[in-house]
Amino acid sequence: MLATATTPKNAYDVALENFDLAADALGLDDGVRAMIKYPERILCVSVPVRMDNGKIVRFEGFRVQHNTMRGPAKGGIRYHPNVTVDEVKALATWMTWKCAVVNIPFGGGKGGVTCNPKSMSMGELERMTRRYASSILPLIGPEKDIPAPDVYTTPQVMAWIMDTYSMNKGYPVHGVVTGKPISIGGSLGRNEATARGVFYTTMSSCEHLKIPVQCARVVVQGFGNAGAIAAQLFHEAGGKVLAVSDTSGCLYDERGLDIPAVLAYKARTGKLAGFPGATPIKPEQLLSLECEILVPAALENAITDENAHTIRAKIVSEAANGPVTPDADRILHSKGVFLIPDILCNAGGVTVSYFEWVQDENHLFWDEQDVNSRLEKIMKRSFNDVLKIHLEKKVDMRLAANMLGVSRVAEASRIRGLYP
Ligand code: NAD
Repeated sequence: MLATATTPKNAYDVALENFDLAADALGLDDGVRAMIKYPERILCVSVPVRMDNGKIVRFEGFRVQHNTMRGPAKGGIRYHPNVTVDEVKALATWMTWKCAVVNIPFGGGKGGVTCNPKSMSMGELERMTRRYASSILPLIGPEKDIPAPDVYTTPQVMAWIMDTYSMNKGYPVHGVVTGKPISIGGSLGRNEATARGVFYTTMSSCEHLKIPVQCARVVVQGFGNAGAIAAQLFHEAGGKVLAVSDTSGCLYDERGLDIPAVLAYKARTGKLAGFPGATPIKPEQLLSLECEILVPAALENAITDENAHTIRAKIVSEAANGPVTPDADRILHSKGVFLIPDILCNAGGVTVSYFEWVQDENHLFWDEQDVNSRLEKIMKRSFNDVLKIHLEKKVDMRLAANMLGVSRVAEASRIRGLYP
């Protein structure tokens, strides 16, 4: 359904290219580059699962720790048919810079299993999750690597991982995963955190560009945890959400969609397609709608050199990881589009994951207002840190964010004595 006709660009090549641009701009020497550019550890595991029909199917799983200079590895687990080791390496790399940009004491990690969770029963998903968790057990733990949800993984999946890990330890270990259900040590506000971060950084961009949020036209691609809640927040702030999409289809209403009704419809039917009272449009039409705010919140490679010239948004808020390729970046930049890069825009999720981990480790839980106000402070401060580099160094926002993230990781390596 993604509106691109090109062969999707390898996400890891994109991650390396963005790192090189930042390292060049910072003038990092070759030794430091070699030290922080590549993953520290890559684990590939075989995940055999007895399916409901009695047959055994083998899935492939991965866990990558990209960098732990600033703290334990942190990053989600993805269940998707297109998961590859390169995709997981790219996502882990982005996590390193992301945690550094928002200045939380974590390094970057990521995991994934190549599977189609939509075609699996709950029992099959649980058996696969527990087997995968057992296989990556040597790498994970509250003090070394803390997984979280990503595409098609849920609080329930986190609960199974926590339980598998705890059974092996012999006592409950809440801090081994974040994004858990509240009843077993999850944080209030975690479910909405990624979208809130997208909302706060987009509001800061509107302020910077002097775009009034009330009546701003918003388009959202991807209607899951990040995209659906972002649509709701923009709607509540008075924005006009013109279009939303998921894998089942795209909905459009020039007067603005009734987002609470769309959310209720998706909760009831599991899809957007068929929502009454909106016009179905094609994915490529959705991306090229004239609007103030475009939020790609699905997967990588949504906007490439093939379709970047069709974008008519003033702001592109990257809720997804890697939705815009470097070639497309250059096109958007030349068209004057203001891009909020993923490692800043969607960092609200990992920030509240950090809060969850702090609460678990201290066995002391905060109220939701406390979580949200701390999140808002971090997101706005980080936005201003990146904006300052963007304005002072005259570089685009992605390069500014990567320069900030990479420089903080390089500094941590230097101060730990790894280079003079
Ligand atoms: P999710 O599984 O909750 O939702 C994904 C949504 O994208 C679904 O609605 C799905 O139908 C839709 N989608 C998938 N392919 C699509 C396509 N080709 N066209 C249109 N829609 C499509 O996942 P999520 O957690 O919302 O993650 C979405 C993106 O946000 C990913 O890139 C993820 O890495 C990133 N992200 C998520 C979090 C988080 O806390 N959930 C944090 C940071 C970044």
